[in-house]
Amino acid sequence: MTHYDLVIRGGTVATASDCFRADVAVTDGRIVAIGENLGPAAREISAEGRLVLPGGVDSHCHIEEPQVGEVRNAETFASATSSAAAGGTTTVISFSQQVKGSGITEALRDYHEKATRALIDYSFHLVVTDPTDAVLEELVPLIEEGHRSLKIFMTYTNVVLDDEQTLRVLALARKTGALVTVHAENHAAIMYLTRALEKAGLTAPKYHAWAKPMPVEREACHRIIMLSELLDVPIQIFHVSGAEAAEEIRRAQNRGLKVFGETCPQYLMLTAADLDRPDFEGAKFLCSPAPRTTADQEALWDYIRTGTIGVVSSDHAPNRFDDLHGKKVGGVDAPFSAIPNGVPGLATRLPILFSEGVVKGRIDLNTFVALTAANPAKLFGLHPRKGTIAVGADADIAIWDPERKVTIRNDMLHHGVDYTVYEGVEVTGWPVMTLSRGEVVYDDGAVVGKPGHGRFLARGPYDAIKPRGRHVTPFDPVTGEVETA
Ligand SMILES: [Zn+2]
Repeated sequence: MTHYDLVIRGGTVATASDCFRADVAVTDGRIVAIGENLGPAAREISAEGRLVLPGGVDSHCHIEEPQVGEVRNAETFASATSSAAAGGTTTVISFSQQVKGSGITEALRDYHEKATRALIDYSFHLVVTDPTDAVLEELVPLIEEGHRSLKIFMTYTNVVLDDEQTLRVLALARKTGALVTVHAENHAAIMYLTRALEKAGLTAPKYHAWAKPMPVEREACHRIIMLSELLDVPIQIFHVSGAEAAEEIRRAQNRGLKVFGETCPQYLMLTAADLDRPDFEGAKFLCSPAPRTTADQEALWDYIRTGTIGVVSSDHAPNRFDDLHGKKVGGVDAPFSAIPNGVPGLATRLPILFSEGVVKGRIDLNTFVALTAANPAKLFGLHPRKGTIAVGADADIAIWDPERKVTIRNDMLHHGVDYTVYEGVEVTGWPVMTLSRGEVVYDDGAVVGKPGHGRFLARGPYDAIKPRGRHVTPFDPVTGEVETA
């Protein structure tokens, strides 16, 4: 009889497609059997009355990135991945950012070094801020060694790309087989509106939403979709905040384009009114795109249900609130344009989505697994090693108590940030145990994983992001070839 390292016994296993009662056996960090009455094993974990889900894949989180000026990132890879594990996530994809004017390789090597302290597995997007010929050439071997996604910004001074630069990055992505992820907002419009608001003396945190209204996001979504269509390159649009931006993505998908949409819990939970909380508290909720309206929240659930938005990530951004190197870097009367953007959310992503989505009947359990684990794993070339419960997959597993009622408090989130935007929010359902490659990393309130357990996940090439092979004219601008009739 087989002796396993571990058997998780008697739980209800759910993947993106199925839901069934079974034991799950693990040996050497991988799932080796799924069935009834498996055993014996060196370690047994009872999952009676529990859900046994694939660990979450958080494909958009900011961890220990070098910051500009006085702002300090509140997270190390050890703290951020502790927080992720405490919320049932077992894979993170964070960002290695190029500093404009310097090369990309050295920054990436430094970043790899920092990430060796992670408790769970990780991979990186490469942020391209300066796509010169030299930088594009430098990227080719880095993509080939497994950094198979790029990120570009359509706004923020110092990182924004113009349309021609964007096309250069898209072309490289097609040549090398990488996915391009995009922060889509119209930079010039934001700058113009920000100056106009400042001139009118309207600089409190709530005016952040006035400087970045939906049209600036909708326009940028439309433009990046058009640019990606011109070169036949799949893209993922990050953090879609409401109905009109999502509508652009649906229109592209209806036309057969490979345009993928992502949203985050903050756009399902917050509105622009949160930016207007007194005593500078609004700064806690300041993120980009800005939170919208309750109607946008409901629209996003619709776009989730119908598949337009296939991924829910955290966009975890670790700025402390009560800190002169965090949200208060410009003082407590700072204009909104001087407040660091972003909200923390590694640990709360899955419980919020489970409670608001599954428990409240907006989505089913399989859709929950798809949005938070299977779909990001597929889109970023990690499936089926990550994102599912299957023989041969890594034993990255979150065991959930679907009935546990929890009032969210910042001190249970194990992150380096001094606040959560969900303080006092009640949720139903929380992970009680998280395993990374068969090792318990989180056990009922306590992070028990060890920094250094996490490994880098080299990715691809893979089919999900293959170009369509359809060009707008007989000329393919990426290869220079002309199609003959
Ligand atoms: Zn982000």
